[in-house]
Amino acid sequence: MIHDYGRRGDNVTGVEIDWSRLRAAATEVAGRAYAPYSRLRVGAAGQTPDGRVVLGCNVENASYGLTLCAECGLVCALHASGGRTFVAVSVVAADGDPLLPCGRCRQLLLETAGPGLLVDTSSGPRALAELLPGAFTKDDLDTRRSRDA
Ligand SMILES: [Zn+2]
Repeated sequence: MIHDYGRRGDNVTGVEIDWSRLRAAATEVAGRAYAPYSRLRVGAAGQTPDGRVVLGCNVENASYGLTLCAECGLVCALHASGGRTFVAVSVVAADGDPLLPCGRCRQLLLETAGPGLLVDTSSGPRALAELLPGAFTKDDLDTRRSRDA
């Protein structure tokens, strides 16, 4: 499937996204998740504009608040590997069916890939802007910051 989308004024066209490959990669990495508390193994796979696939899985902690979602690992792996953005992301449970990112991760993905990021869902790809309308962004910081704080 080929999608046209724009991100922060950049227009990337003709990017081919192999959703079945992306979902399969997410499912495989879900098997490596560390999820002894929830027992919900989650894998995430993101495709970069140049076609690379980056992976992440959830890592839980006895102190529940320190748990890292799969998307956290995904974004860390992107930057650690020299990448800057994704064109598509698939997040799945170990059964291979899509899971929508939690609110925190939608925000994390927005800063990483912009509102045009395509997110795999059980009903087909959806733009992140649909999943996180009215989002807080860096622009809010730039325009609303107090001068005297
Ligand atoms: Zn999350």
